[in-house]
Amino acid sequence: MRLVLVGPPGAGKGTQAQFIASNLSIPKISTGDIFRANVSGGTELGKLAKEYMDRGDLVPDEVTIAMVRDRLSESDAQDGFLLDGFPRNVPQAEILKKMLEEFGVALDIVLELVVDDDEVVRRLAGRRTCSQCGRIWHVDFDDKKDDVCDACGGHLYQRDDDKEATIRHRLEVYQEQTAPLVSFYAQERILVGVDATGPVEEVTQRAMEALSPYID
Ligand SMILES: [Zn+2]
Repeated sequence: MRLVLVGPPGAGKGTQAQFIASNLSIPKISTGDIFRANVSGGTELGKLAKEYMDRGDLVPDEVTIAMVRDRLSESDAQDGFLLDGFPRNVPQAEILKKMLEEFGVALDIVLELVVDDDEVVRRLAGRRTCSQCGRIWHVDFDDKKDDVCDACGGHLYQRDDDKEATIRHRLEVYQEQTAPLVSFYAQERILVGVDATGPVEEVTQRAMEALSPYID
């Protein structure tokens, strides 16, 4: 199965990507992993990407696309893959479509993790990080009533990334970027939405049920 996974920050996309890929016995291909592999492997594309990153610039689309193409050409990706973090926008989606056509294949499904904004805020804004050991606690899920780490006694604080205003902003940016991508795949008739609220295992199960008609 050739699959793309999309979902907002805080939807547990990375975790679901891992579980779904392993359930389907296909490689999970995330842009983060591809970047790291190219940079640490010292490939030409990795060197190029590193120049941009070292300057604090965004890595241009062409470089990302070339890395994705290389990765999708590897032997383990010939019978299927799960893409996480690519495509990010409609132009990238169109390029991916052409690339797969050249390979003589096509995407089977785009799975969208759907979570209510308020649920994402509740999940992320409830996180507290230990300033001493780095462990993360959750005010609701761990029933954390004080700001002391139960593991080491360190002081717990809320990272800037976990503040409500920051989370809401990231969600807005995500919606702006992703809404056109989601409509693109809806038009291609390969978009499937899955409710990503609730425990991780339940979400994985829902995702597998949604994918089952497409498993051959
Ligand atoms: Zn601690």
